[in-house]
Amino acid sequence: MITNPLVFVITSDIAGKSRGKSFPLKEMEKRLKRGVGWTPTNVQITCFDAIAESPFGSLGDLLLIPDADSKVKLDFEDGGPVERFMIGDVTDLDGQPWNCCTRSILKGALEGLKDAGGVELIAAFEHEFQFRAGLAPKGEPYGLNGFTRRRQFGETLMAALEQAGLHPDTFMKEYGPDQYEVTIGPSQNHRAADESLILREVTRMTAARYGETVTFTPIQDPASVGNGVHIHMSFVTEKGDPATYDAEGLAGMSPVTGAFIAGVLKYLDSIVAFTAPSEISYLRLTPHRWSAAYNNLGFRDREASIRICPVTSTDPESIARQYNFEFRAADCAASPHLALAAIIFAGTQGIKDKLPMPKVTEEDLSLLDEAALSERGYVRLPQTLEAALERLDANETVRSWFPAEFVDVYLAHKKGELACLEGMDTAARCAAYAAVY
Ligand code: GLU
Ligand code: MG
Repeated sequence: MITNPLVFVITSDIAGKSRGKSFPLKEMEKRLKRGVGWTPTNVQITCFDAIAESPFGSLGDLLLIPDADSKVKLDFEDGGPVERFMIGDVTDLDGQPWNCCTRSILKGALEGLKDAGGVELIAAFEHEFQFRAGLAPKGEPYGLNGFTRRRQFGETLMAALEQAGLHPDTFMKEYGPDQYEVTIGPSQNHRAADESLILREVTRMTAARYGETVTFTPIQDPASVGNGVHIHMSFVTEKGDPATYDAEGLAGMSPVTGAFIAGVLKYLDSIVAFTAPSEISYLRLTPHRWSAAYNNLGFRDREASIRICPVTSTDPESIARQYNFEFRAADCAASPHLALAAIIFAGTQGIKDKLPMPKVTEEDLSLLDEAALSERGYVRLPQTLEAALERLDANETVRSWFPAEFVDVYLAHKKGELACLEGMDTAARCAAYAAVY
């Protein structure tokens, strides 16, 4: 059949969706300069397709400019089409970043981190997802049997991620029904969020080649576990030297790490509206689900919002390179760019305000009552999306990090999303999200 290969350029938007347009590959040179046309109100298309209230109405024009460094070409060699996509930045017609472009917001946040802390970010996103086909067999958590059942998929996925320019690290059968986890190697600055987006899309494409559907939804069944996004972070100086670890610091934290984490924990109740942004995200963020329910830092504790991860070395130089902490209160309803931006802004505020290094918990905080919690400086994270949005709305510091109008557009978007869920019970809400993420 005749063919004129197309390249799809993506923006990862407020809904955490990859939207964009395609153009003929032959016109790459032109499109790298001019981009494709984009419409402001597209940012108000919710994950359920309804368009939330938009300040832009039918007015305005933007450009979505593909980034040559984000090119993905994927040939499954199965007789099907070659996939080609790129990630772009949304700008106005003069090429200035648009206030609601999540990738540009992230780039701004990373500049701020560099200015305040003299460090750059190294990060890797860890993803959990579930197959949606029928009833999953029992007896498979972390099992060889569950792995073997999906080995062929896993091997294609590893090959596809590698072709896409990522560094596949592990593929495993997670605890939940038909739940799997895939990890990749770290990358620097906004590339880490790009790789998260590429991983999600390549996983979906791989499943489609097998006639399967996967979902990264925050939680499918409130009686079971959720699908988390765990963001591993560390810092390097501009020269590339590790800057996260200090053998003398509490639990190994360097001063910049301690202040950064303190900032994230201080603002977590307000930024969780960006990192865990669906209505059902809050079913996952409950105690004893190995997710995150309090604004605490844990040492190797999988119930903490931020966990200091183990290192596998005894040599000081390798410890300093391996040492990293993991943000656990995120899920795939969030654009990876926006979630990471919110975390970086909060951490940078902690550095600017020279916040003291947070204490490290090694206990079950759900056993403490509210008074005991607050005496120790902890809060239970918001328990609904509405509550999280109210915290965000009321937090002037958090608002000030983002470009003008962005937070109001975001709040309106989320209200539109919530309106789509009215009259649905929990099972129907979970099913609705599972179908779109
Ligand atoms: N599924 C858990 C979550 O929702 C995480 C399990 C793990 O520690 O990998 O975050
Ligand atoms: Mg996991």
